[in-house]
Amino acid sequence: REKELLATRDLPAETHDGVRLQLVGNIEFAEEIPNLLAHGGEGVGLYRTEFLFLARQDLPDEEEHYQTYRRVLEAMAPRPVTIRTFDLGGDKLPVGTRVEAENPAMGLRGLRYCLRHLDIFKPQLRGLLRASVHGHLKIMFPMVSGAAEVRAAKRLVAELRDELRREGIETRLPPMGIMIEVPAAAQVADRLARECDFFSIGTNDLIQYTMAIDRQNKDVAYLYRPLHLSVLRTLRFVCDAARAAGIPVSMCGEMAGDPLYVLVLLGLGIHELSMNGPAIPLVKRVVRAASAGDGQALVAQILELTTAGEIEDVVKLEMARRF
Ligand code: PEP
Ligand code: MG
Repeated sequence: REKELLATRDLPAETHDGVRLQLVGNIEFAEEIPNLLAHGGEGVGLYRTEFLFLARQDLPDEEEHYQTYRRVLEAMAPRPVTIRTFDLGGDKLPVGTRVEAENPAMGLRGLRYCLRHLDIFKPQLRGLLRASVHGHLKIMFPMVSGAAEVRAAKRLVAELRDELRREGIETRLPPMGIMIEVPAAAQVADRLARECDFFSIGTNDLIQYTMAIDRQNKDVAYLYRPLHLSVLRTLRFVCDAARAAGIPVSMCGEMAGDPLYVLVLLGLGIHELSMNGPAIPLVKRVVRAASAGDGQALVAQILELTTAGEIEDVVKLEMARRF
C-alpha cells in the first residue's frame, strides 16, 4: 500500500476536470526535507521557524537565520518555500522571557509579538532577505488581525532591504503573504487581499478562535469541527476574496491533510494544501480521483444545512460513495 502510494510521487495532483492543486509540506526542521521530497512534496507550504529556538535557551543570530534558511531553500530549489516568521508568544517563548498571561493564545503572539520585539524580528528578516537569492522564497506572517500589521511588517522588510543594499548585499523582494487564522483577518480578507501576495488559512487557530475553544482543552474538543457552518462560511468568504483579488489561497492547518475534506476544499477553490509529508500520497490519490465541479456542488449543498453533524454526515457519505 505504502509502495503503491509512493508510486504517485511524481504524478500531478490534478482532478478529472483539470484543476491542479499544489501539495506541499509543513516542516519544523530542515532535516525533514528528504522525507517530504520522498512523499512527493512540491514545496514547503509552512516552515514553522519558531522551532529554531523553542528547543534551546538562546536566540539565533542573523547569521544562523541566514544559514538555516539558505539550506532549506537550496534543498528545495527550484520549488517554493514559504517561511513563516516567528509565531512566538503565549506559551511559545524562549526560556527566561516567558510572561504570565491568563490567555496566552489571545496575548502578544505571532506578528504582534515580533512587531513589539524588533531585536528578535529584525535579525530574522535580514537573514530571510539574505537567503532570498538562494531559492524560491515566500515570506509569511502569522497571527495577523488587520491590514495595519501587514503594512508595518512590509515597511520593515523594505527598510531592511535598503539597509542591506547600503551594506552592499543584494536581495530579492520575496512574495509576502499572511496566515488567515484570526476571525478578524478572515472578515476583512477582501481588504487584506490587496496588501498580500497570498493567503494561507491556518485552520487550527481559525477554528479555535471561531468556536471559542482552546485547542489544548479536552473538555471542548468535541466542538472542534472543521465542517461547522461558521467555519465553512468563513472559508468561503476568504476564498472568494482571494479569487476576486487574483491571489492564491493555501491551507496549512490539520484540515488540509485529511482526505475527508479534499472534495470540500476543491469546491471552495483552494489552490494549495500544506501538510505533513507522509499525508501527501493519500490526499493526492483522492484529488486525482475527484472533480472540482463535484466539489462545488457539494459545497453548495452543505452550505444549506445547519449543524456540523448534518454536514459531516453528508460529506462522509459523499466521500464513501466516491472514493
Ligand atoms: C494553524 O493555526 O492552523 C497553523 C497552521 O499554525 P500553527 O498550528 O503553527 O498554530
Ligand atoms: Mg496557527
